[in-house]
Order: sequence, then C-alpha cells, then structure tokens
Amino acid sequence: MHITQVTTQIRRQTPGPTIKRDALQSLPGSGSVRVEIVTNTGVIGTGEAGFGRIAGGPDALAALIEHELKPLILGQEPVFVRKLHQTMLAETEYHGSQGLATFGIAALDTALWDCLGRANGVPCWQLWGGVHTRIPAYAMVGWLNYDDAEVQAICQQAVDQGFQAVKIKVGYPTLAQDIRRVEVVRRAVGDDVGIMVDANQSLTAAEAVRRGREFERMGCVWWEEPIAADDIDGYAELARALDIPIATGENLYSEKDFARFLRRDAVDIVQPDLRRAGGPTALLGIGTMAAAFRRPYASHGGGPVQLNVMACLTNALYLETGLIPPGSPLQLEEGTVQIPNGPGFSWG
Ligand SMILES: [Mg+2]
Repeated sequence: MHITQVTTQIRRQTPGPTIKRDALQSLPGSGSVRVEIVTNTGVIGTGEAGFGRIAGGPDALAALIEHELKPLILGQEPVFVRKLHQTMLAETEYHGSQGLATFGIAALDTALWDCLGRANGVPCWQLWGGVHTRIPAYAMVGWLNYDDAEVQAICQQAVDQGFQAVKIKVGYPTLAQDIRRVEVVRRAVGDDVGIMVDANQSLTAAEAVRRGREFERMGCVWWEEPIAADDIDGYAELARALDIPIATGENLYSEKDFARFLRRDAVDIVQPDLRRAGGPTALLGIGTMAAAFRRPYASHGGGPVQLNVMACLTNALYLETGLIPPGSPLQLEEGTVQIPNGPGFSWG
C-alpha cells in the first residue's frame, strides 16, 4: 500500500454569538485544515488540525502541507509512519519544526495511522495494544467570560449529563475573584464533583503558588498552566511548593519538551495536545514516557484520536471534552466514555 494522493481542505468556522475567553486568549473559532491521504489500494485516511483563534492559520497551514510536507510522503508507504514522522520533522527543522509545521505533521500523522487502521479493519488502539475500554472524562465548560449564573448553569448541565468533574478558567485580576469563582461553581455542582482550575499561563510563579495554596485548600483536582508554558524553572518550583497536582503540556511541542519537564519534576500531570505534540505517534511516545515517570496523562482536547491513544496508556487519567452535543457518539457512563471501535480513528 503506497500513497498516491494527498489533499487538503480548509474548513471555515463561523464564530458563535458569544466569544469564549480564557485568561490569555479570546477564541472566536477560526476553522481547521483537513487532510486526506489516498492509497493505491483504495484505502483513505484522514486527519485534521484546528485553529481556535488565528484567522489566517488554516490558509498558512494548508500551504505548508501542500508545498513542504506533501512531497515528502507522496509515493511512500503508510506502514512506515514513524519514519515519515521523522522525515517531516527533519525537513521542517530549517525554519522550525515547532509551531505551524507541527500542526501539519500532526494532521498527516493522524491520516497515516488512520490508513493503517482502516487497511487492517481495526481501530488504531488495536494496532498499538490496548489497556482500557473506557476512560474517565471531564467537561471543560467554565469560560472566563461567563457570569455567575451562566457558569453555574453550564456546570450544572455537565453534571446532569453525567460528568463527575468539570474544569473552569481562572486567572482573574485578583485571588479573591478566583476563589469566588470556585465557590460559585462548587455551589452549583455539589461536593462530589471534581473541579479543575486553569489559568492559561497568566500568572507569575509567586502568584501561582499563592493561588495554588487556596485551590489546594478548596480541594480542586489540579492546577493547570498557571504560568508561561515554557517556564520550566517556574513549574519545577510550583511542583515542589504545592501539593495540588500541577498539570501542563498543551503548549509543549514533541516528546523532547515533555522529557525536559519530566526530568526536572516540573509537571505532575501531562496534558499533550494532538496538534502541538505532532500527532498520535508523538502522543503515544509522550504518554509512555510519562508512565515511566509515574505521571498520569490527561488529554488536551478530546476526540477519537486522543481516545485511541489513551486506550493504550496505563497512566490514562482523564479525557477532556466539552458538553456532549445531541447525537454525539460519546456515551457517558459513571463519568466515563467508551473507546471507539471503528476502523482507524472512526467511531464505529
Ligand atoms: Mg488548558
């Protein structure tokens, strides 16, 4: 089986009536690039990389895939997906394989594994070897722009759907506002639902320790991205100073970034993002490496690719998702969702 064609398709997203906001960014929703890999056997694999913010992102990424990455994989065999992953990293190194290039590599890496799963008629987790059939999921629903009533209503909705944990954004100008936010959500969800807090890189290390002690006292599940994503010294300091687990990784790139954080004891829970990690090949590597350091893996973002990866990780902790929309294949049972059983990364 070899690759005869690679196509890219830009998908635009119309911003919703309310623009979601965290402590760092506004997220109007700006579309994605979908790639399709066609093989001589008729098997087709797909992958996608989304942009939550940058309007020009999808066009720039589609051009990068067309002009730089596509020529590297045309005519090649999907069965050598790990070699192709290395080739794409090496070829983009000249201008920087971290950033937009990683988004493109991730989309193609996803499509390559999807081809292999479909060619064998099995979900990708069966190619890799499974551990779990269900994974605990939490709902990321507490955006910063919501007022008290809005955040309470959406958190309550998540609990009604069967979620046993919700994540909320913090990082307001003052500690008192952050504390108040957690209290408001606690009143809505009750004592038995977990609350994760996420400050999206907005604080200094000193302030993150101060606020982290309060979140610890309030029993929050984890303290996510309190400081700049690349501040490894700061993260090591936080992990030492606080008992609440420090979660980070959605803005780290490749196994190498995670290796540095794990070696320094600078992260308690790894949270790789499919696009920034560089696709399922990298997610598997990061997850396995974290397991060796006895650190749990919680996905950044949800979807069938992350679920297939987590099915194979002994240290899988939580899938991140939003509210489950009507008609979704995801089914919550006791706070867990099922691993997809369709070929490749399809739901089945
Ligand atoms: Mg986050």
